[in-house]
Amino acid sequence: MRCNDMSNNEYEIIVAGGGIAGLTAALTAARLGRKTLILSGAVPGGHLLSIERIDGYPGFPEGISGYELCPMAQEAAMAEGVEFVPSELIAVTRAESGFTIQAENGSYRARSLIMATGASLKELDVPGETALRGKGVSHCASCDGPMLRGKTAVVVGGGDSALQESLTLAAHAASVIVLQKDAQLTGQAVYQRQVGEQTRISVRCGMQVEAILGAQVVSGVRVRNLATGETSDLPAEAVFIYIGMTPNSGSVAKMITLDENGRIPVDAMLRTTVPGLLAAGLARSGAAGRAVASAGDGAAAAQAADRFLRNGEWQ
Ligand SMILES: Cc1cc2nc3c(=O)[nH]c(=O)nc-3n(C[C@H](O)[C@H](O)[C@H](O)COP(=O)(O)OP(=O)(O)OC[C@H]3O[C@@H](n4cnc5c(N)ncnc54)[C@H](O)[C@@H]3O)c2cc1C
Repeated sequence: MRCNDMSNNEYEIIVAGGGIAGLTAALTAARLGRKTLILSGAVPGGHLLSIERIDGYPGFPEGISGYELCPMAQEAAMAEGVEFVPSELIAVTRAESGFTIQAENGSYRARSLIMATGASLKELDVPGETALRGKGVSHCASCDGPMLRGKTAVVVGGGDSALQESLTLAAHAASVIVLQKDAQLTGQAVYQRQVGEQTRISVRCGMQVEAILGAQVVSGVRVRNLATGETSDLPAEAVFIYIGMTPNSGSVAKMITLDENGRIPVDAMLRTTVPGLLAAGLARSGAAGRAVASAGDGAAAAQAADRFLRNGEWQ
């Protein structure tokens, strides 16, 4: 049992980010007896929240939806005493014994900070994309798929997310066209097999999207065949973009040198070079990109933060 003489806005551990890494970090920190606050953003859950069927998460052989799993993780953390603040971290500075954290709703102090701010889906950065966002351009297949009955959807990308979401869309749309820039798909074998078996999905590799077409709503995409150099227009009512992610790590960029992909470098215990500062999940270097890995990171980072608070060692 520990005596707690911290003031209202002081915490032993603050977790920035309410995805599965952050929720698990906060849960673990609280279970270790630490006064813990999570800056969860407006709605906890991160990417998982909008995923209809999370695959590969142990304990759920048939998958589980994000809107079931995320509230379960949130409730577990709250039950252990984690304080949830629906704000984002804006800036961090080093203070005498820890960090001063500026959030949207005010300022906090923490002896240890776990950055679990994840990553954001990349944009294509082509004409039409910004103007047609929400008018057919989307990152959320489970949200917008049900509106595509009898229609054609384009999915841009060839990795896990693109293939998984094309399968989600195929349950609703009349046809789904996957446009992959590389010569081959890169998603895991199980998704490649399922996509191959789904007659409503066609895959075109070596195709680069150059523009999203439409006046008020999406009417198609302009693509370049990278082998021949020819461009053509494909009619479609919606475009879903899954071409990778950009880490949300900018707020610590002044304190540590980010890796070449903008992620936060950590050691095997998820510690950065700054004592007390850790990173977990998609925001950190070498993240595996799966939900279970982010959850594992969250638990490991909280353990390492607890050890630091106990003995002050950072080697
Ligand atoms: C379409 C799609 C399908 C997927 N399907 C699967 C699947 O079936 N199985 C699987 O294992 N994995 C899947 N994944 C991967 C999985 O979603 C991620 O690996 C995992 O959710 C990452 O969790 P995270 O907590 O590290 O990051 P995130 O989910 O990115 O969470 C980070 C959170 O931090 C918030 N945040 C950002 N900046 C700040 C800030 N400054 N302050 C506070 N909060 C901030 C973000 O808004 C977000 O809520 C999928 C991913 C996508 C995109």
